Amino acid sequence: MTTPATTEDLVLYETPVPHVARVVLNRPRTRNAQNTQLLYELNAAFDRAAQDDDIKVVILAANGKDFSSGHDLHENPREVDMSRYRPVGTWCGFGCAGAEAQMAREKEIYIGFSERWRNFAKPTIAAVQGKCISGGLMLVWPCDLIIAASDAQFLDNTVNMGLPGAEYFNHPWELGVRKAKELLFTSGWWSADEAHRLGMVNHVVPPEELQAFTLAMAERIARQPLFALKTVKEAVNAAQDAQGRVNAMQTSFALHQLGHAHNMQVFGLLIDPSSTAAGMSKSSTYANKGD
Ligand code: ZN
Repeated sequence: MTTPATTEDLVLYETPVPHVARVVLNRPRTRNAQNTQLLYELNAAFDRAAQDDDIKVVILAANGKDFSSGHDLHENPREVDMSRYRPVGTWCGFGCAGAEAQMAREKEIYIGFSERWRNFAKPTIAAVQGKCISGGLMLVWPCDLIIAASDAQFLDNTVNMGLPGAEYFNHPWELGVRKAKELLFTSGWWSADEAHRLGMVNHVVPPEELQAFTLAMAERIARQPLFALKTVKEAVNAAQDAQGRVNAMQTSFALHQLGHAHNMQVFGLLIDPSSTAAGMSKSSTYANKGD
């Protein structure tokens, strides 16, 4: 069964086998760029799986050649009608301005959603093919397991844009401290095999086997008792959080907001316009429209 999470179906919700929900990014013409609507639909899909007691495992997959090109830079944050959405956070009503407005938006739909999905009670598995860039990492890293097609490539190019890493700053835990620094300093790509070697992904499989392999893994996990799955997930997450992950991420998020505020003061843009990142330009809709 496949049903859209909303009428515009930027995210699909499927139940391919008993006890497994499959949530699918469905904006392939933009390489699954994450606009506000897609992120709220994705959150709604996770909520739907959380509230269905028959579901034990959630797969996060993506239609098209690439998993996600990251945040949709063609969407101007200042022009989004947030009244269309039901906020999950408590920071503000999105009627604020300046650095507060940017921080409110990113607290809600970036670090807020990613942290919420990271703490989703049931096991989650990401199935990643093609490119997974910056904001794309913020969808796969919150998942418990990551299965990568051999053609998967990963990148956080936010330093190139004048920012200190993506909003959900899990890089030291995903990559190790030294590789995290190298890959951030250079805005360099890493392959599926490198991600596997670093411990960021669980398995690398041929692209044509990605979905079947992931579904088989989900079915295997779904044979376990749900309460034990939830509690063991919480135990592992607690071990990671005891290392200081939450406090570290709050610090990096504050520095990320400082980066936006700095860029706005110096360039009138949320990002450094000298960026060489693909698709970036001085006419990016991330520009300050003068408010
Ligand atoms: Zn940001």
